[in-house]
Amino acid sequence: MDAFETTNIYFHRAADLLGLNERVRTLLLNPSREVKVSIPIEREDGTLAHFVGYRIQHNNARGPFKGGLRYHHQVNAEEVKGLASLMTWKTGVVDVPFGGAKGGIACHPQDLSEHDLEILTRRFVQQIHEFIGPTVDIPAPDVNTNAQIMAWIMDEYSRMKGYAPAVVTGKPLALGGSAGREDATGRGCAIVIENFFKSQGKTLKGLRFALQGFGNVGSHLAHFLDEKGALVIGVSDSHGGVMRGEGLDIPRLIEYQRREKTVVGFPQGNSISNEELLVMDCDCLAPAALGEVLTRENARHVKARVILEAANAPTTPEADEVFEKKGRVVIPDILANAGGVVVSYFEWVQNLQSFKWTLEQVVEELTRVMTKAYESVVNIATTKKVPLRTAAFALGVGRVAKAMTLRGL
Ligand code: NAD
Repeated sequence: MDAFETTNIYFHRAADLLGLNERVRTLLLNPSREVKVSIPIEREDGTLAHFVGYRIQHNNARGPFKGGLRYHHQVNAEEVKGLASLMTWKTGVVDVPFGGAKGGIACHPQDLSEHDLEILTRRFVQQIHEFIGPTVDIPAPDVNTNAQIMAWIMDEYSRMKGYAPAVVTGKPLALGGSAGREDATGRGCAIVIENFFKSQGKTLKGLRFALQGFGNVGSHLAHFLDEKGALVIGVSDSHGGVMRGEGLDIPRLIEYQRREKTVVGFPQGNSISNEELLVMDCDCLAPAALGEVLTRENARHVKARVILEAANAPTTPEADEVFEKKGRVVIPDILANAGGVVVSYFEWVQNLQSFKWTLEQVVEELTRVMTKAYESVVNIATTKKVPLRTAAFALGVGRVAKAMTLRGL
């Protein structure tokens, strides 16, 4: 089953709950546009390299298409399509006026020089510039893309179309980026999990977390959990992991990872594999790397009571079933990691108004939006007696269905 088919399983469960008819389902399911481009570049060493890039625009009933751009060797059309539709439901869950899209370039970014990455990014923008824009489609960072890559996108697009910072979010602060955007996804995850435990009469203090992935989302989530007194007892990245039962020293680990480009070998902890990390004895497991890491096989051994989906689509439907049977709570991606797109929305608003918000304003608004979305999802889950994922999809799908129906064909 590919990523798009997986997302659609959840879509249909929500559509059943909402009583949507076939006509509306057809309109909601199919991506609006799928762009696939060839990107040849001359590398710094003089050799020619060829890449394939994608931008898949799923739905724009509620506003311009919006979604990240991923540079990874596993990027393919089906995965991008699945992630694009997830974005449509995610922007619906947090009620920001965007639709859903996703893009990516199939490449090994670690093998490309800074020069190659810049050329690749600019060539990609030249190929897709007709399909993006501040009121059309607004890319953002995702796996292996960052503020510098967003700056190149903004610059290349502005060269062709005139100054347009709002064409992309997640930019550096000096180029119209927003305070609090870089750590927004991690902060949003922390707000959601804090709300979850609060509803059980608990604070995060002393609760034990294991995090897979220590990039933008994972490292910032670790920082906020640590700040709130939680114990981050295990983290990993693509090279392996590190654990310490009494809690890792997160500020030191972040410093170490920035220097060494991995968490492996961190002196104040013991090494652990990615598979061992996923089944660690802890209160909450937060996958914050790639998709489909929790499967039928390893789900049976997961000991965490709560799974916080910081990554997109980390749980296969089979694993989801196992978790449900075992009474584990899964806080779904389209709620858990929506903080990134919420602050992207704040960045876009600031760009359109040529006005800057303070970090305090961003954090206050983000907290308000994430808490409201969390409460709405829990409310649906409780009244309809469905898992949080079905409730989140029902909230997002319901909002998009309403907009589509009002707009008509
Ligand atoms: P990133 O590139 O900054 O970090 C990815 C991390 O995952 C790195 O630590 C990497 O080493 C690790 N990783 C990669 N392959 C792995 C493997 N096979 N096993 C274990 N670890 C592995 O990316 P990111 O922006 O932090 O994104 C992480 C996840 O969060 C993705 O699923 C992304 O779609 C999702 N997400 C990101 C944002 C955002 O604002 N950046 C927003 C919403 C969702």
